[in-house]
Amino acid sequence: MPSSRKRAKGKLRKARSTARAVCVDESTWMNWVQWGTRMKGIQCSHGAIVTPSSNKDIDLFMSEFVDSLRQDFELSSLMRELLIKHPAVFNNNDERKTVTSNMLAMGTNDLLREKNDRKIGTDNANVLACSILILEHYAETNDINASLYLAYPKKRDIDDGGEREALRFFSKRISCTCLDIMYAQAKSKQRKVGRCYGCEKTFKRSTLEVCSGCRICQYCREDCQRQHWPIHKGDCDSWSKCRAWCIDYGFILE
Ligand SMILES: [Zn+2]
Ligand SMILES: [Zn+2]
Ligand SMILES: [Zn+2]
Repeated sequence: MPSSRKRAKGKLRKARSTARAVCVDESTWMNWVQWGTRMKGIQCSHGAIVTPSSNKDIDLFMSEFVDSLRQDFELSSLMRELLIKHPAVFNNNDERKTVTSNMLAMGTNDLLREKNDRKIGTDNANVLACSILILEHYAETNDINASLYLAYPKKRDIDDGGEREALRFFSKRISCTCLDIMYAQAKSKQRKVGRCYGCEKTFKRSTLEVCSGCRICQYCREDCQRQHWPIHKGDCDSWSKCRAWCIDYGFILE
């Protein structure tokens, strides 16, 4: 990573994110993973890979991750911290796959919550989806800044797209059909929406235009982009440098 590394770190932290205290009513991460098998009518582990009890790395990583979700947290800072503490989970293919399979099962269980619990479920699922994306991009790039940058557009769409986007993410990644009906219903009922970073209003996603510098922030019209520019300038600069690095190393094809 070029000299933009430090700056990108600060700026990404400030970006609007999924940061919110997540309500988890399960006592341990393993209960959360196995929750589905205990829920009425669902006898499925959603493809979660059984974690070897001898693997302390994964257990510590998952425990710290779930504990952080219960507090005020910021996802990119949390992932940076976890990378420093548990590098093997990021660097070892088997460990990373086990962790992401756990996270997929957790998110799926959250989306399968009862209707009155659905808001919390979707919030949890969004955070899990973004964490999975960051881990997947790390496998590809070996660089945390690049991973955060590459995960951002989908993270943005999931954050702003409601239940439909979360259902899409998880139903496409799990090996079972547990979310198929819910996703089909959401697709027919909910439009593909996105948020303008200027006026903060929600629009049909296809009508939004993305900033040509960072390709992350999107706007409903030029006025909104112009008004947002003083706030966005710094982020745009750091993100554009991340983007240039990703293009140089072939992680983004232009
Ligand atoms: Zn399932
Ligand atoms: Zn706007
Ligand atoms: Zn920009």
